[in-house]
This record gives sequence, structure tokens and C-alpha cells, in this order.
Amino acid sequence: MTARILVVDDMPANVKLLEARLSAEYFDVVTAMNGPDALDICDGGQIDIVLLDVMMPEMDGFEVCRRIKANPKTHHVPVIMITALDQPADKVKGLEAGADDFLTKPVSDIAIMTRVKSLVRNKTLVDEMQTRVATGEDLGFGDEQELIFRQPVANGQILYVDDRPNSYEHIAGMLKGDHEVIVEPDPQQAVFNAAEGDYELVIISMNLRNFDGLRLCSQIRSLDRTRNLPILIIVDPNDDARLLRAIEMGVNDYVMRPIDGNELFARVRTQIRRKRYTDRLVDTFKHNMEMAVTDALTGLHNRRYMESHLSTLLETAKKTDKLLSLMIVDIDFFKAVNDTHGHGAGDEVLREFSKRLQKNIRGIDLACRFGGEEFVIIMPETDVALAYIVAERIRRVVADKAFSVNGGTHALDLTISIGLSALQSNNDTQADILKRADEALYTAKNDGRNRVVADAA
Ligand code: GH3
Ligand code: MG
Ligand code: MG
Repeated sequence: MTARILVVDDMPANVKLLEARLSAEYFDVVTAMNGPDALDICDGGQIDIVLLDVMMPEMDGFEVCRRIKANPKTHHVPVIMITALDQPADKVKGLEAGADDFLTKPVSDIAIMTRVKSLVRNKTLVDEMQTRVATGEDLGFGDEQELIFRQPVANGQILYVDDRPNSYEHIAGMLKGDHEVIVEPDPQQAVFNAAEGDYELVIISMNLRNFDGLRLCSQIRSLDRTRNLPILIIVDPNDDARLLRAIEMGVNDYVMRPIDGNELFARVRTQIRRKRYTDRLVDTFKHNMEMAVTDALTGLHNRRYMESHLSTLLETAKKTDKLLSLMIVDIDFFKAVNDTHGHGAGDEVLREFSKRLQKNIRGIDLACRFGGEEFVIIMPETDVALAYIVAERIRRVVADKAFSVNGGTHALDLTISIGLSALQSNNDTQADILKRADEALYTAKNDGRNRVVADAA
């Protein structure tokens, strides 16, 4: 896991020091000595993380951070602020500016590596999703993403694991005004709840009375359902070893006792915001994937999907010596529906036909809209005789019941013609099988329509 890190500091010695440490860990380091240069570099892209000094002349680190977070091109790039003193007020100010994390000078090696690695891990996921989403259709997703970064984070669903009442009452109390906090004292029950519930963050106390908090973190990280759920741990000071293990395990952030309410609040907000952002990306990606393989009018698979799926099915059938049949269905005299009742009526027929089609094929069969008023149904592990029975059933459910169009004002009697073919030999290509089905369909049309014809080969 490597990353390109931008180090911003007005002191050349500090820049050199950080550059040397990060390069030793094989990170790719870029440097800037002032805010405006840093913003230019970020805007140019390809920066994975920004390490940002707070105290700089002209434009200070808070302002640089605010601008990075306000720019749609860079708002998702994690920013770590470096403060000279351990000033709680600076931390809060930084979190308000949108910073993702802090380090205090002098920066310890453990602190810097854990923070950087944990942020790179998250960024890699976000980048991957963004690339995929960008490859799909743009559905106005950029605007919505930006909104998530600007919206106040309210009503987060938080699971909080702690078995010391004096600790959890205090901490849950700090968050309760803005978030839903469920306190769970039993760690095993907590794993179950985390997997079953709709939580956006898990907070885990590291000094549970009867259970190792690290074990709980590792369980949550290893379960499929909770793998991407952010974890924030509450640690005691001077417990670096366990903190390090926790970060290696993929814990997202930590707060040290005694708890500063503002800091806790801000870190919780950052985690929930990131979770919402990533969830939205994943949803958009899934939606785009569906759009890319689905026919919008009928909801059936489209031709592109059919062709790629058919080639996979053919390979499997050939390798395992299994049968495979296929039919092409074409609505008879469909042009007349459009011409007489309008294009809208034609669309209604296509939708209703698709419903009837889906109801009358089996789970393993795959129905697609091949184009216009032509449909293809692929039937794995099916010989022509059985495919013929299925095709006849489909022909009948169309011919036997009129299609209601234009708000029920017209009922149209329609028929379909079907051409069937099957995989014949291992030399058969997708094009061969489709061609034979098409020839059979042509025969069905010529022989008077409203009929099923199987390829004679
Ligand atoms: P045949 O029995 O020989 O198949 O005659 P046909 O009229 O069904 O065949 P033809 O290929 O001449 O016409 C198909 C028509 O389907 C022409 C086209 O305008 C119409 N069509 C294609 N796609 C759509 C669509 O998405 N919606 C509507 N309403 N009509 C469509
Ligand atoms: Mg037709
Ligand atoms: Mg046609």
C-alpha cells in the first residue's frame, strides 16, 4: 500500500524531516512551503493525503484545510493537521475546518505511520468507487456527493460498547443530543447488533472489564456485514502498543481519556460523514451497474448483458457437455400497434409482454430485450423438446389474453412468433446459434405467424 503524500510546512527543516521519514516507508512525497502552492498541487490531482502545518504566515493551515474541503475536486482528500502544541482548542478548530486527523509536534513515528496508513486505506476504497462511478453514467452524482460533505451530520446511528456505567453514562451523554446512541455492555451481543443493525459507527472502550476490546475490533473487522463499519476506540493514555495494534487492525480513529467532548464530537462527525459518503458512492455504483445491463423500458436485461452472459453460458455448457437452448421472440405486426394507437400504446404492450414473459419462464432462464420488439430467452440445460414446450406456453399467454392500452380504452389482440435453436457442437459460436434461431423465426413468420418453429439442424 503506497500513496502520494503532500507535506506542507513553511520551515524547510520540518519539510525535510517528514519527507525523509515518509520516503523511508516508501511513500511518494511532494512538498509545498505555503498554502497557495499547496492548494495548486492538490487541485492538480493525484494527492492521496495532505500533512498540513497549522502555523504558516499569510494563509494558515486552517484556511488551507477549509479550501481543500470546499473544492469538489479535493474535498475527499484526507488532511492531517500538524499542531505545534497539544492545544485542544486547535484540534477543535481543525476539525471544524474539516481536518481528518491531527498530529502534535514533535511528531512521533508511530503516530504518523498509523494515521497515514489508516487514512490511505480509506482513501483507496473511496478512489476505487469513484473511478467505477465515473465510468458509468453520470447521474448528477457529483452534486450530491458535495452535499454530503457540506451537510451537518445529524442523527448518526451509533453503537457504543462499554461495560462501565460511570464511563458510558458520561460519554453517551455527550453525544445524545445529536445522535442516536445505543449502549451495549455485552461485547458478544455487540457483534451481533453491529451485524444486524443499521449502525454508522461503533465506539468501543478499550478497557472493558471482562473482555479484550481488541478482540472485539477484530471480530467486527472480519465479519462481512461489518467490515466497512467505522470503529472509533476510546483508549487510556500510555497504551501505545494496543493503540498500534488497533490501527493495524483497521480501527478508524481513537480518542484518548480524559475525553474532550468537542474532540469526540468532531471525530464522530468525521467518521459518520465518511461512512455516508462511501455508502452513497457504493449505491451509485450499483445503480450504474444495473443501468448498464438493464433495458429501461421493460426492466429486462439488455442486449449487451445478454451477449456477455450467453458467451459465459456457452463456454460452461461446452465444458460440461450440457445442453443449451435459445429462443428469439418477435411480436407480430407490432408496427401496426404504433401506427394505430400511438407509440405510447406500443410501449405499454412491450412492458406488459415483458411481464407475461417473465412469469412464464423458469428461474434459470434468462430473458432479455434484444432490440425493438424482439426478445431472446436463453435456457441452460434444456433440450429443444423442452424449450418448445416453454415457447408454446409463452405463445399462448400472449394470444389468449388481449393487451389493454391507453388507460384501458383499447384491448388489443396480439400474437408472437418464436424461433428456437440449440447448441449443436463444440464448434458452435454465439453467432451460429442466434443465426439458426433467427432463421427459424423467419420460417415462423412466413408460415403465418403466431407459431413456434424449431431449427431443423
Ligand atoms: P412482423 O410481424 O413482421 O414482425 O411485423 P412488425 O410490424 O412487428 O415488424 P417491424 O420490424 O416492421 O416493426 C417493428 C416496429 O417496432 C417498428 C418500430 O417502430 C417499433 N418499435 C421498436 N422499438 C420500439 C419501442 O421501444 N417502442 C415502441 N412503441 N415501438 C417500437
Ligand atoms: Mg415484429
Ligand atoms: Mg422485428
